[in-house]
Amino acid sequence: MSERAILALGGNLGDRKATIKAAIKDIKALEGVEVIAKSPLYESFAATENGPDESAPRYLNGVIEVETTLKPGALLTAVRKIETAHGRVRLERWGSRTLDIDIITYGSLIKAGKRLTLPHPRAYQRAFVVVPWAAMDPNAKLLGHGSVAALAEDLQSQVWEA
Ligand code: ATP
Ligand code: CA
Ligand code: CA
Repeated sequence: MSERAILALGGNLGDRKATIKAAIKDIKALEGVEVIAKSPLYESFAATENGPDESAPRYLNGVIEVETTLKPGALLTAVRKIETAHGRVRLERWGSRTLDIDIITYGSLIKAGKRLTLPHPRAYQRAFVVVPWAAMDPNAKLLGHGSVAALAEDLQSQVWEA
């Protein structure tokens, strides 16, 4: 049994593009995970608790579609290991980081757990998730929010193609 999942990758420290490329390679190398599609990369201002911070290092973000036989929890464990391998340290919430990998959707699974909430509860309002996703797959739908392209259209001005 395999499922399609959308993963979002991003970071604002170090060589962001090289890190994202290397992380996608690491994801490809995972047993039970195949990368089906990759989005273009987009740049944006750092989002903080108080809105966009234009003085913070800018983010580079993209999304990929994978097909996987891993269960959602195992997929999260695997991508968290990849974050750590690329120098991710966890300081304050939404702090600067070399690499963040979130699971945006996993098949049609809806779940609100301690460790994992699916679909990702903030994905629908994030330009840096929905704009690359719509570019990768114009017909994509986000459970509970409909057309990803429609979400992206409203948020387009917050990101620019890198
Ligand atoms: P945000 O979740 O708002 O994007 P963040 O990515 O900066 O913030 P992290 O510190 O990377 O937050 O992750 C905090 C915790 O979120 C993780 O330890 C993980 O257990 C949990 N989590 C819940 N749902 C998801 C999901 N869909 N994808 C990734 N992590 C998730
Ligand atoms: Ca995140
Ligand atoms: Ca995360």
